[in-house]
Amino acid sequence: MTKPWTQTPTVAVVGGGLAGLATACALADSGLQVTVFERRPYLGGRASSYQHPSTGEVVDNCQHVLLGCCTNLIDFYQRLNVEDKIRWFDSLTFLEPGGRASVIGASFLPAPLHTAPAFLRASCLNLVDKLAIAGAMSALAPLTPKDTGENFLAWLRRHGQTDRAIERFWKTILVSALNEDVDRVSVPYAAQVVRESFLKSANAGRMGVPTVPLTELYGAAEGYVRARNGEVLYRATMKSGSFNYKMQHPLLKLLKQYNASWIPIELRW
Ligand SMILES: Cc1cc2nc3c(=O)[nH]c(=O)nc-3n(C[C@H](O)[C@H](O)[C@H](O)COP(=O)(O)OP(=O)(O)OC[C@H]3O[C@@H](n4cnc5c(N)ncnc54)[C@H](O)[C@@H]3O)c2cc1C
Repeated sequence: MTKPWTQTPTVAVVGGGLAGLATACALADSGLQVTVFERRPYLGGRASSYQHPSTGEVVDNCQHVLLGCCTNLIDFYQRLNVEDKIRWFDSLTFLEPGGRASVIGASFLPAPLHTAPAFLRASCLNLVDKLAIAGAMSALAPLTPKDTGENFLAWLRRHGQTDRAIERFWKTILVSALNEDVDRVSVPYAAQVVRESFLKSANAGRMGVPTVPLTELYGAAEGYVRARNGEVLYRATMKSGSFNYKMQHPLLKLLKQYNASWIPIELRW
């Protein structure tokens, strides 16, 4: 007869970026004993901050924003109890060269038409641009197109988008959302961003901006994991099948405990 399992299951999470931290916190909440291995001396990965050498000010590695449709990220903030560190904006401001602003926010109309009045008023685009964008939006609205290998720039051209519509509208939204230029983005991913942020609901299109440095925002995960019997190890690089560690103590024990196996976990939102 097999003995009942009495030990708390242990999990190693490699990487203290957003994906690793969200995973670690969710697993710790489920009662697992989590150890996060992070190769750097701080958490956050690509969403982190550093102290400016001359001013001493804490600076984010780049402006990071989120939208109301980033529901997994919002869930993570709620779990860490840092959701009040995000300031929400109901509208997006598009600035033209020269500084003229077009503010796109929701109206009384139901989704997906909620931003239509502001869009029609926007001075950064002319009527031809707007008609082209409206046509492309209505092609994307009913369902996400299948991936045929076509990139989104080719799709935009095929759907009659003007150069200005591409530069001032599509690139502004997609390059910042996907960290990639439109000729390197596949159509379903671009369509998902547009559908989720512009067409779904007024709430989904709201923009959130952290009011504290990113490392402070995501650093809260360390306390969360520790409070649930877990650990966060810094300067702890995991290599396939072996640990290359620069810390003295717990790793030898852990090496034995995890039998040198590790799980690279990545979640995206
Ligand atoms: C300039 C810039 C601006 C951005 N702006 C936005 C934005 O406005 N909105 C938005 O939603 N997204 C934005 N992003 C994207 C967002 O930052 C990333 O998608 C997100 O941070 C990725 O998180 P991740 O955990 O998947 O990966 P990473 O952040 O890369 O985390 C991976 C972590 O794993 C660690 N690691 C790797 N290998 C090992 C190993 N072998 N052992 C131990 N540790 C290891 C790394 O040190 C790192 O901490 C931006 C990204 C950049 C670079």
